[in-house]
Amino acid sequence: MTSKPAIYLDYNATAPIRPEAREAVLRAFDLAGNPSSVHASGRAARDVVETARKQVGELVGVVAGSVTFVSGGTEANALAIESAVASGVKRLVVSAIEHDAVVETAAASGVAVEVLPVDEHGVADLSKLPQLLAGEGRALVCLMLANNETGVIQPVAEASAIVRASDGLLHVDAVQAAGKIAIDFSALGADTLALSAHKIGGPQGVGALVAGTRANVVRRQHGGGQERGRRAGTENVAGISGFGAAAVAALRDLPQAADQGIWRDALAQRVKDAGGVVLGEGPQSGLGRLPQTLCLAADGFASQVQVMNLDLAGVMVSAGSACSSGKVKASRVVEAMGRTDLAPYALRVSGGWASTEQDWIVCGDAWLAAWKRIGARRREVA
Ligand code: PLP
Repeated sequence: MTSKPAIYLDYNATAPIRPEAREAVLRAFDLAGNPSSVHASGRAARDVVETARKQVGELVGVVAGSVTFVSGGTEANALAIESAVASGVKRLVVSAIEHDAVVETAAASGVAVEVLPVDEHGVADLSKLPQLLAGEGRALVCLMLANNETGVIQPVAEASAIVRASDGLLHVDAVQAAGKIAIDFSALGADTLALSAHKIGGPQGVGALVAGTRANVVRRQHGGGQERGRRAGTENVAGISGFGAAAVAALRDLPQAADQGIWRDALAQRVKDAGGVVLGEGPQSGLGRLPQTLCLAADGFASQVQVMNLDLAGVMVSAGSACSSGKVKASRVVEAMGRTDLAPYALRVSGGWASTEQDWIVCGDAWLAAWKRIGARRREVA
């Protein structure tokens, strides 16, 4: 049985575990062996890890050898950035909408960090990239594939051409894009790419760093020689097994993932008809958004009040980015888009593999009812 709450539209925070992943985790728990042991139980555990490595690689079009298992998207991003710095990168160029995992690791890296701005649609402004790359020493550019708050897909392949022309490296945080749109690591021109199992219906606490031939993965923690010396510590066999199973299911379900876009757009229209704003909707010529993500705002309707009202109606969504401390800050992403006025009012609705059209409709009903109540109260006060 999967645990799916009443109406769960917070997949960008974490997705409910897929049945295939749950079964794989439970099966792996029954294997007693350490994958580094040479006896039969150890070999069985090793088989599970290597099967999952192949499955996760297939999700992004790479061979198993390019995949290093880690503890999640945060560690994958940190390993990519710290490896690049340990290998001689002198400067980091980080897009203004990166996840804290990238922003904070970059800030702590000890090398200079410059910010690549985004336009009003939430798309990285690549016209600024050549000048940001024109400094001394090799640079690593961090540009996510899809943003966690708006779902806006970034022009990664285009950025790669610019980065390569200056002999830089490109790291892509694909944590949110994976399982929602097709990903081809080579076509993106990435050097490293971060993935997280729990965003695609796998277990929490496991992720992967994909590295191409130009990237050097330098281990951050010392100990055993696991993951070909790239990440010390006994592998999370059950988690990795669930990750592999989720990757297979996510790849299989990709054609249906686009359906969410129709339901999402219907809700977006209702919000706009009621005077709300949808962020990251354009431009039409861009790469678009993840089909299951909606970032909306309504002036004066505080993010947290929206979250609480929807929660009372049994609908689970997030204010801006899901913050690990539970504190709600004004959305940094919405601010970067030049909409500081709307940043305290941003709400993220995100569906996924088990969401239905009805979920989006009920979410819309609850949001409109709450917005109406707030409007009536504001009129009373005025
Ligand atoms: N990168 C992005 C874009 C994310 O949305 C998240 C999680 O919210 C992470 C990285 C961190 O992943 P994890 O929770 O697996 O550490």
